[in-house]
Amino acid sequence: MTKKIRQPIIAVLGHVDHGKTTLLDRIRRTKVAAKEAGGITQHIGATEVPIETVRTLAGPLIKLWKGEIKLPGLLFIDTPGHEAFTSLRARGGSLADLAVLIVDINEGFQPQTIESIEILRKNRTPFIVAANKIDRIKGWKVEEDEPFLVNIKKQDPRAQQELETKLWELIGKFYEMGFQANRFDRVQNFTRELAIVPISAKYGIGVPELLVLIAGLSQKYLEEQLKIEVEGPARGTILEVREELGLGTTIDVIVYDGTLRKDDTIVVGGKDKAIVTKIRALLKPKPLDEIRDPRFRFDQVDEVVAAAGIKIAAPGLEEALAGSPVIAARSEEEIEKAKEEILSQIQSVVINTGKVGVIVKADTLGSLEALSKELSEKNIPIRKADVGNISKTDVMEALSVKEEDEKYGVVLGFNVKVNEDAEEVAKAKGVPIFVGNIIYKLIEDYEAWVTEQEE
Ligand code: GDP
Ligand code: MG
Repeated sequence: MTKKIRQPIIAVLGHVDHGKTTLLDRIRRTKVAAKEAGGITQHIGATEVPIETVRTLAGPLIKLWKGEIKLPGLLFIDTPGHEAFTSLRARGGSLADLAVLIVDINEGFQPQTIESIEILRKNRTPFIVAANKIDRIKGWKVEEDEPFLVNIKKQDPRAQQELETKLWELIGKFYEMGFQANRFDRVQNFTRELAIVPISAKYGIGVPELLVLIAGLSQKYLEEQLKIEVEGPARGTILEVREELGLGTTIDVIVYDGTLRKDDTIVVGGKDKAIVTKIRALLKPKPLDEIRDPRFRFDQVDEVVAAAGIKIAAPGLEEALAGSPVIAARSEEEIEKAKEEILSQIQSVVINTGKVGVIVKADTLGSLEALSKELSEKNIPIRKADVGNISKTDVMEALSVKEEDEKYGVVLGFNVKVNEDAEEVAKAKGVPIFVGNIIYKLIEDYEAWVTEQEE
């Protein structure tokens, strides 16, 4: 009997402007090309590419993929406003089963490229590299949606050589970071070598090969990890907590395990507690052309099966934390177990020590954990670590620290905004605020400031 495999969750990440959004848009647009093949389904915070669509796009390339195809499709997490959702976690690992690291081949490694690789390595997330914007190579002949291996044959020797040179530079950079990388068609062993697919996200060149490799590799990893549970109560991760017109506070969730039903009770992480609540509605986005009134942008569904992106409306979600786990429960016993699990996860990350130390804020539980870990490794004490924008209270707390030890009287924010009143107080009282979207850079900035103070 063949076991049922759920769709893998795929994250696309990389430095800003290297083409994440363009690639996802291109993949969504392929629905035009592959209408009969099942098209593309829009989820909350995600896009689903059915396996027939991959097959149609891949054509004869499907032969690259040895063995039986069991995946129902691929679920791409849409890069939300915050780009650091790599740190979204599920059961202590990464929420993504596989990642696509996109690198502008003309720009090479940039700070967020390096940070993405570090996070992937730490979470042990397997990944493929998309070397993007090959169409920018001088004299490149563009043929939309063409497989790379077909497109490359049409290029002048000089353009081909240019691509080779740029690829070698990338391979060299990966080598410096401890990875053996190679152009995908030259890879001998996909578990040991990192595959690089040259693509043009803008024109779709190489996207067929990229999709085939994503499907092939993610299936392999899913099988190995036996992540095949689609029955039983759901588990997921909160992408975003959002106010919706007419619905109140809702949570956008990626369900990575099990089945979520509209009459389920869910347990989610809140500021300093586990929130137990009954689902009011499970919502998925309506097709764009059917939205007439913004209050009715969603369709209600009875259940969703992993993996899926879904909006949940329920009472009491105001305090829910982005990045926190969501666990469905169908009995008192399950509720208690879920509460315990979620509380222990939150309490290990959201802390208030009252010690002399820095104030840390981040956009999700996962990124907060990553930032706090880095700080601890550098022996920088933490007074408070919490999810959310930088508030006046945070600044006031840093101010009280400042009176005891100037160098720790600061607020560090990862992927968060600074509230206006917080900004004002910080200026007036001389409390430094460091914000950024690259963890190591944020810490470097802070350390540079400390050194400056000491001089
Ligand atoms: P993101 O920040 O990683 O999401 O990057 P975007 O997808 O927004 O792309 C940044 C810019 O690069 C946009 O102006 C895109 O049109 C452009 N771009 C992305 N992919 C390609 C590509 O394959 N070729 C070319 N020529 N431009 C691209
Ligand atoms: Mg983008």
